[in-house]
Order: sequence, then C-alpha cells, then structure tokens
Amino acid sequence: MLRGLSALPPLREVIARHGLSASKALGQNFLFDEQLLDRIARIPGSLAGERVLEVGPGPGGLTRALLRAGAEVVAVERDARCLPALAELAEWAPDRLRVIAGDALKLDAERELGGSGHIVANLPYNVGTALLVGWLTSQAWPPWWTSLTLMFQKEVAERIVAAPDTDAYGRLAVLAQWRSSARIAMNVHRSAFTPPPKVMSAVVHIVPAEAPAGVRVATLERLTAAAFGQRRKMLRQSLKGIAGAAGAMERLEIDPTRRAETVSVTEWVRLAWSLDTPL
Ligand code: SAM
Repeated sequence: MLRGLSALPPLREVIARHGLSASKALGQNFLFDEQLLDRIARIPGSLAGERVLEVGPGPGGLTRALLRAGAEVVAVERDARCLPALAELAEWAPDRLRVIAGDALKLDAERELGGSGHIVANLPYNVGTALLVGWLTSQAWPPWWTSLTLMFQKEVAERIVAAPDTDAYGRLAVLAQWRSSARIAMNVHRSAFTPPPKVMSAVVHIVPAEAPAGVRVATLERLTAAAFGQRRKMLRQSLKGIAGAAGAMERLEIDPTRRAETVSVTEWVRLAWSLDTPL
C-alpha cells in the first residue's frame, strides 16, 4: 500500500531510533528544517519525474525533500549506519528511491543513474570539491548531469562563482565558469545544521553552457595551475614554463605584465585555445 510522504515519522525521531549521532570524521552536519530543505530541492527547477543523484543523504532530510518534489532519487551514502533509516524511507516512496552503499568518489554515477539527471548534495567540503572538479572536467560536453545543486562552505562557494580582480578568483572559478554558469542560489546560516559547523554555508547552482570549440580542459588547467600557483607574479614569469604561452599572449594582446587574477575567464579560454591551435 502507498503511504504518503507527509505521514513520515519526524526525522529527529528516526535519527534517535537508529542512534545516528553525527560523525565528525565523515563531515556530518545534518539539516532538519523541512522548509529550508524544500527550498534547496526547488533550486534545480521542477523535479517532478526527474532523475536525481543525491550524494551523502545521511539520515535522509534532503532525500525526503527531493522525493516530496517528485524526483526519482538514487542516493549514495558512505556511512553504513544511515542505511537502515534510508531503507525505511525507501518503503515510503516505492520505486522512487534507490540507495547505494559506498563512496561517491568511486561511483560510476552516470551508469547508476541510468541516463542524464540532476545532482544534489550536502557534502563535507573536501569531498564536495573533489566531486565538483570531476563533474566539471567531464570529457563529454554537455555532460550527463543537467544541473548541480551543491552545499559548500560559503568561502568555497564564493571561489566557485568569483569574478576577476577579487581574492576569491582562481582556478576553481575558471573551471566552473568556462563552459558552465555558476551562481550562489542560497546562503545557509550555520545554525541550520546539527551540529552547527564553524562557518557559514551556501548552495551553489551550476548548469552546463555551450563549450567553446577547440579548447581542452587539460590545457586550461595547466595554464591556470601555473598562473594562480604564483598569483602575485606577472604572467610572463608564472607562465614561463609553458611552451608557447609568451607567443599566445602576444597574439591575443594580453599584456604579460598582468597578474593571473586580472585575466577574465574568456581570456583564459582564448589562451588555452591558442596554445592548442597550430598557427
Ligand atoms: N544530506 C544530509 C543532510 O543534508 O542532512 C547529510 C549531510 S552531511 C553534511 C554529509 C553526508 O555525506 C554524510 O551522511 C556522510 O556520511 C556522507 N559522505 C561523506 N563522504 C561521502 C562519500 N565520499 N561518499 C558518499 N557519502 C559521503
């Protein structure tokens, strides 16, 4: 018999019954506020009938919100302690929630999801950044994911959406913006989490855009790693080790006395294109 999600036992009760104290080692900070969770689940747009990969469901607060929004959810969780609570939740949404026990960093997510879909996650910062870089550097473009809705420490979120000439602008901003659009969709106060983390958080929303032709992500990364690795230095110094960089700057009229943080995403893309395109 179908049981309505609205009749689910409260999340705090589920957590108490399964003894799910938050583990610091696994970066666990849980969200309980249903309204806040529903707002996060609305960020990707309507999820009715949409496939969603949720990374790190924990006890399932955000999972519930995704299910309430009508999504078909595949959720991957590393903490085996959470699995019984998630299995219980799956009973309330038959055929709409599949839980995978394991590490998201090792998952073939596209295969598990069985096609394109949205990704939604509230993850520990280091795992979230590693996964984000993997998703952004996908060979195939447009990628299999149609949008990313990811919770980060606010400082990391600001680095993802940063504009040139700011301290936050660097490799992550270029990677996130050269063929995607990235924005901060919501700020989340630390007090919304249990236990509260030390810093504020923000949800970033990223959607793929058209990729500039003839640009390889490996070249772009090589350039920005060299330049932002020595961000206070002039480009002619920081890009010295990259064959062809001096000539490319000259052709593109990018002043080699500039510093990495003054170079726009478009200019980085042009530089990468120029390095890979024979004259
Ligand atoms: N989504 C829940 C929420 O919003 O309340 C839990 C968020 S908690 C910050 C992060 C969750 O990610 C934890 O349940 C943790 O066990 C899980 N996690 C951490 N590393 C993971 C990994 N590599 N793969 C899958 N899950 C992971």
